[in-house]
Amino acid sequence: MEKVMKGNLPVAIIGGGPVGLAAAAHLVQKGESFILFEAGATVASNILEWGHVKMFSPWQYNIDRASRELLEKSGWVSPNENLLPTGQELVEEYLLPLSQVKEMNDNIILNAIIVGIARKGLDKLKNAKREDAPFQLYVDIEGETKVFEAKAVIDSSGTWKNPNPALSNGIWTNSERSLNNHIYYGIPNVNKLEDRYRDKNVMVIGSGHSAINALLELVELKVKYPNTTIYWVMRKQNVKEAYGGQENDGLQARGELGTKIQRMVELEQIKVLTPFYIHNLKGENGKISVTGNHNFDEVLIHDIDELIVSTGFRPDISFLNEVRLNLDPAVESVEALAPLIDPNIHSCGTVRPHGEEELRQPEKNFYIVGMKSYGRAPTFLLATGYEQVRSVVAYLTGDIVGAKEVHLELPETGVCSTNIESNCCSTETKPMQIESDSCCTPKPIPLKIEINKKDNSCCS
Ligand SMILES: Cc1cc2nc3c(=O)[nH]c(=O)nc-3n(C[C@H](O)[C@H](O)[C@H](O)COP(=O)(O)OP(=O)(O)OC[C@H]3O[C@@H](n4cnc5c(N)ncnc54)[C@H](O)[C@@H]3O)c2cc1C
Repeated sequence: MEKVMKGNLPVAIIGGGPVGLAAAAHLVQKGESFILFEAGATVASNILEWGHVKMFSPWQYNIDRASRELLEKSGWVSPNENLLPTGQELVEEYLLPLSQVKEMNDNIILNAIIVGIARKGLDKLKNAKREDAPFQLYVDIEGETKVFEAKAVIDSSGTWKNPNPALSNGIWTNSERSLNNHIYYGIPNVNKLEDRYRDKNVMVIGSGHSAINALLELVELKVKYPNTTIYWVMRKQNVKEAYGGQENDGLQARGELGTKIQRMVELEQIKVLTPFYIHNLKGENGKISVTGNHNFDEVLIHDIDELIVSTGFRPDISFLNEVRLNLDPAVESVEALAPLIDPNIHSCGTVRPHGEEELRQPEKNFYIVGMKSYGRAPTFLLATGYEQVRSVVAYLTGDIVGAKEVHLELPETGVCSTNIESNCCSTETKPMQIESDSCCTPKPIPLKIEINKKDNSCCS
């Protein structure tokens, strides 16, 4: 077998989410030593932040093969393959028991935050004997920065801790930061936060599954507290684009999210503002005012009590400054993956199987996997990550043939074949209503909106 990694140092894994733990399980199976650093107080701490959300893929897609084998040896019984776990159940019934298997547990360090990685004694610029130098990982543990050495690094630190802001150009402003007490990034547990949202003007920003999950929970709250007003703001030309593949989706639960939200929009439980590009947020008498471009008009929306920003996530590459990386300039994904997942050109969300070869970085024996490998693209599925780490570990442990044989069948999203009209003048769906004399002639909604007309060119 070809010797890919040299020396007796362990392989370092950053992040104890499902993909990092799967990488560890594959290394255990290959008899290779590893050390896993997890920032949280428990494994999968990112998932626990959305633990109340039901996943759209059933257990059969959520369990890694090597992890299952390790678990079964320890007497674990697999959950029913066809059921949909919540995030919390994924952690409690699978990831936590996996991390407690002895071969895993002995090599996991919790509350350990990676703050820097370099080749020993070399900064990014230096070539000399670079590939022979071990990696040094700088890790904050209990207020102290410790240094660990490794012969390879698998970065599976996800993107959850690095959300996108509300502004449509992606810029974080102090003004937005100052409103932090009234903004939730991600998917709030609305049931637990009833006091925060009931009878309030709540605006949800974003068009993905996270936004839809938050909206559906708010609609439930509105049944109990009818004075709750829900606004849904997104950049898409037409809200229909957010509904996804619906009954054509290979994952029934994912398809149903679109169907449910369509129904709520049609029942006017949610006021949709689209296309809407947010330019600024400002605090105003304890409320938030939102400025943006809506259908080519400048509008100002007052009196928003709470914002839920579900505009996606971006990878944190700050601790990788001294590592030679090839990331796509737009998607910030591993470069070779970008053409497969770029939401600008790839509507399907289904990705052909890929492994070590596509994930290879200019820095030998360094890999970005899991959610982080997709950069800003939102379509990552666990099954993809499990196949990624199987292939990477096969390669690192000298099984070059195994590394190349990538197998992955992902359920189709069902959106490739739908012909979504992205035209502001489309007449088919008009749930969003603003008083304006634009060619799309919407009717008014009961909200304090000021319109500063600019341009109707989209309809010319
Ligand atoms: C609400 C929601 C629902 C989803 N539902 C599904 C679904 O149904 N099916 C599906 O296949 N996928 C789903 N996904 C997508 C994806 O599978 C998950 O996001 C999954 O958690 C990604 O796994 P990961 O291991 O790559 O990253 P994460 O789960 O985010 O794990 C990364 C880990 O790294 C740690 N970490 C971060 N930075 C550092 C650092 N500097 N040092 C040390 N540790 C660090 C974090 O604490 C975290 O535990 C969903 C995602 C979301 C947000």
